[in-house]
Amino acid sequence: MQLAFDADVEEFRAEFLAFLANHLPDEAEAGERPRSSADVPEWARRWQRMQFDNGWLLPGNPPEFGGRNASILQQYVHLEELSRRRIYHSFNPQGLGIIAASLLSFGTPEQKERWAAPILRAEITAALGMSEPGAGSDLASLRTRAVRDGATFVVNGQKVWTSGANEADVLLTFVRTDPDAPKHKGISVLLIPTDTPGVTRRPFASVCAEDDFDFNEVFFTDVRVPVENLVGELNKGWGVANGALGHERTLLWLSFADRLQDLIEDFRPGTALDRDRYATLAMDNQALRLLGSAALARADRGEQDVAALSVLKILGSEAVQTASEHALDGAGFDGLVHPALTAPYTPWNNDHFASSWFERYARSFAGTIAGGTSEIQRTIVAERVLGLPRS
Ligand SMILES: Cc1cc2nc3c(=O)[nH]c(=O)nc-3n(C[C@H](O)[C@H](O)[C@H](O)COP(=O)(O)OP(=O)(O)OC[C@H]3O[C@@H](n4cnc5c(N)ncnc54)[C@H](O)[C@@H]3O)c2cc1C
Repeated sequence: MQLAFDADVEEFRAEFLAFLANHLPDEAEAGERPRSSADVPEWARRWQRMQFDNGWLLPGNPPEFGGRNASILQQYVHLEELSRRRIYHSFNPQGLGIIAASLLSFGTPEQKERWAAPILRAEITAALGMSEPGAGSDLASLRTRAVRDGATFVVNGQKVWTSGANEADVLLTFVRTDPDAPKHKGISVLLIPTDTPGVTRRPFASVCAEDDFDFNEVFFTDVRVPVENLVGELNKGWGVANGALGHERTLLWLSFADRLQDLIEDFRPGTALDRDRYATLAMDNQALRLLGSAALARADRGEQDVAALSVLKILGSEAVQTASEHALDGAGFDGLVHPALTAPYTPWNNDHFASSWFERYARSFAGTIAGGTSEIQRTIVAERVLGLPRS
């Protein structure tokens, strides 16, 4: 079966390719590497701004926010062309995909102008403060408190796993504003600039490398936040959380399919066992792309199928993890050498998927944990696809 797009989508693709041909920074310019997911080197800031100004940053957005009101199929081919070349459109992916997107959905016109547009233009960067030591999968248990005091909220508490907080300018922070309401109903969302007195960011290294400081603990001690920084309605933060994580869900499977494709290109099977595993990788890639295409077609028709997206997340994230483990295994001792490059150097990418086999395997756990663990996704599938009783 040959899947193809209509002519208008192919015209859109051709226009984007012409933009890339004329504007993608050259390799020499794109040398400086980011230190975290909120550290955007100068060249990458210029590149993001270039995309914003030309409506190619997030094509689904309106022109004033870096897009051109593109359809879901057009957004898909845009991502397809970026990933084919291993290009990142932003080195602050959460700022772009979650925080700015949430502000465009739930923010006031002032918040869009003051925070969303500068994030999209790469003038500032943002991080997401949802998880806490006692609130990960069960996010609604979060305990960071915000108490109204005149024209400010006073915030006390702690977040953890806050990617890029150490380099971000602002945190989209989920706080409890009504401790007496049922736990999903007393949550609100605040924009907290990281230079506000009382905010302490403590970065810590990940399993990938001793100098990989992207994760943070963030502590809030009597932090005063102006009431105009409340995003959405008071105590309605649960809706913002669902919207925030839902923004990229429709096309999330594509990022896993792209990593499978990278592995197909980079993994060189040597033994009969490796070849067998390689065949599994190729089949998983094909299955994911076909199921993903069906989901894409449903989204294009305006149909929502949240449970099907959980199936895609489980299949994609676990296939990447299995294949990365097999590639690491196949590389033998060399696979542990860090930072041995195991793929072509790709200056427009942030290197994570082109570094040592060990790092590629370790990073695959981001896919099976962040944005809802595989166990949580399986519960959704059990209840909403298979109709099993609720736990
Ligand atoms: C790379 C990466 C980046 C991240 N970046 C951010 C960020 O920027 N901002 C942010 O706020 N958070 C971030 N997180 C945190 C992420 O959202 C949480 O790790 C995730 O929600 C899981 O929560 P937890 O780690 O507390 O694990 P827990 O929820 O404590 O889960 C521990 C284990 O128990 C299982 N489990 C939990 N509940 C159930 C259940 N009901 N049924 C069955 N099994 C269950 C889980 O599947 C898991 O295996 C990031 C995580 C990673 C890995």
